[in-house]
Amino acid sequence: MRPRTYSHSGVVTPQGLLLGLVAGLAGGLVLGAVYGFVIFINPFIYVSVLATVAFGVAMGFLVAKTMKAGKVRNAFAVAAVALLAAAFAHAVGWLVWLAKFMEDVEDFEAVYLLDPEVLFLLIAEINELGPWSIRNSEPVSGWFLWAIWGLEALIVLGGATGYAYLTAAEGVFCEPCGRWCSDDQVLLVLSAAPEHETTRLKAFEGDLDAIEQLPPPEAADSRYVTVKVARCEHCGKTNTLSLVEVQHTVNSKGEDEQSETVHLDHALISKEQLERLERHAAAQMEEGDDFDDDEETFEVADGAA
Ligand SMILES: [Zn+2]
Repeated sequence: MRPRTYSHSGVVTPQGLLLGLVAGLAGGLVLGAVYGFVIFINPFIYVSVLATVAFGVAMGFLVAKTMKAGKVRNAFAVAAVALLAAAFAHAVGWLVWLAKFMEDVEDFEAVYLLDPEVLFLLIAEINELGPWSIRNSEPVSGWFLWAIWGLEALIVLGGATGYAYLTAAEGVFCEPCGRWCSDDQVLLVLSAAPEHETTRLKAFEGDLDAIEQLPPPEAADSRYVTVKVARCEHCGKTNTLSLVEVQHTVNSKGEDEQSETVHLDHALISKEQLERLERHAAAQMEEGDDFDDDEETFEVADGAA
């Protein structure tokens, strides 16, 4: 029988919502202005694409981190606030870009941009003329430019929303005492050798006996299983156990590549079960295993929201 796994309660706290909105709008004002300015002055398309991605991700990060600090346990709510904040930030970016673009035009004042009618007529006009060109060719204009602008908006809004969702879905919250638990930490590393398959499959079901029976991997093993735990450091009532198989491969360039398969995703365990695993880990450390990879901590994206 598989143990119950952790998932967010879905709670949206008023202070978390407020924090996310304030940080998202204030941050959006600053980041949007910087973004609009960078897009205006920088001539390299590569840099612009990178700036667009970074802008979206930064907005998602900002909203997710502040809302999690405000104890929001609802990834959809976080994603929705991130979408709103990113849309605001992107609009600020547009205004700054337009203000810079029109700077040298006689009789033009930046405040005109606050009139929606003027704003949209101006954007349509700029689109028709083409504000920039690629390598001295004809200016990019018309439907092709609309498509680029659309793609840009999609990257900013999609990047912010997606990143915020994934960040918000991560982590374990202790409902009894109302705090976030520690991040996942690697407690043990186990062999994934074929001869232990039956035991390993039992371990993947959350069987602590099986986990204790599995030996540590050999130093040369490119495949092994990490046992990760997250705990409430305050009341000790909420603890989770995750089992992640790690496979190292060497790619065509001779670089090490690592892929992970989650076999047990944040199963809820008792304080006693956690302590039992810790005792086992301590005993194994004393036996002096030569596997030197166990200092590493990994972040596992928790798909369950
Ligand atoms: Zn707690």
